Amino acid sequence: MKISALQPVTASDFPGRMAAIIFTQGCNFHCPFCHNGSLLPMDADCLIGEDTVYSFLKKRQKLLDGLVISGGEPCLQEDLAGFCRQVKDMGYAVKLDTNGSRPLVIEELLAEDLVNFIAMDIKAPLSRLPELTGTASHGEQISRSISLVAESGVDHLFRTTDVKPMLSSEDHRSIKELVPPGSCHVVQPFVAKNALAPSLRE
Ligand code: SF4
Repeated sequence: MKISALQPVTASDFPGRMAAIIFTQGCNFHCPFCHNGSLLPMDADCLIGEDTVYSFLKKRQKLLDGLVISGGEPCLQEDLAGFCRQVKDMGYAVKLDTNGSRPLVIEELLAEDLVNFIAMDIKAPLSRLPELTGTASHGEQISRSISLVAESGVDHLFRTTDVKPMLSSEDHRSIKELVPPGSCHVVQPFVAKNALAPSLRE
């Protein structure tokens, strides 16, 4: 696991739990509106060892009951499943934040009961994914991940960032159509000032 940062506590990122957050290094998308640009390269200095995270969590067992694994894209990490297992064995619930591009990893985590909550981004209608993610289309993978997450029985939500200059109301309608009935979908505000693409920062 390549872990770039550890946020010691959050009361708002894991519904119903007091949690810490780790941010994994590396992402396979290059969303122009991303506000975590430093997390995108797969290699980086100043990584935090897994043992440091385990030891932090051990000390906080009476104060925290969850760990959010965010990124970057956590599903790119080797041995994500092993890491989740260790964290769960310490008594923590695990929340995964994902862009949905790696359905096989999500499937593995679900099959082994290693996540308690999944927040998955739906960044654009499938036809506009390349533009909004800065990569070749991952439409098939995103569709598969949506189904896996929605049918998993695990608490989950789908999220879309309201990138006003790029997403129209028609796009938002198309995104809503991708969300299966019974699943929650939230639209979160776009913060322009740290956007990856300079043209979006104004
Ligand atoms: S916003 Fe896009 S580029 Fe940034 S971390 Fe998330 S998926 Fe990766």
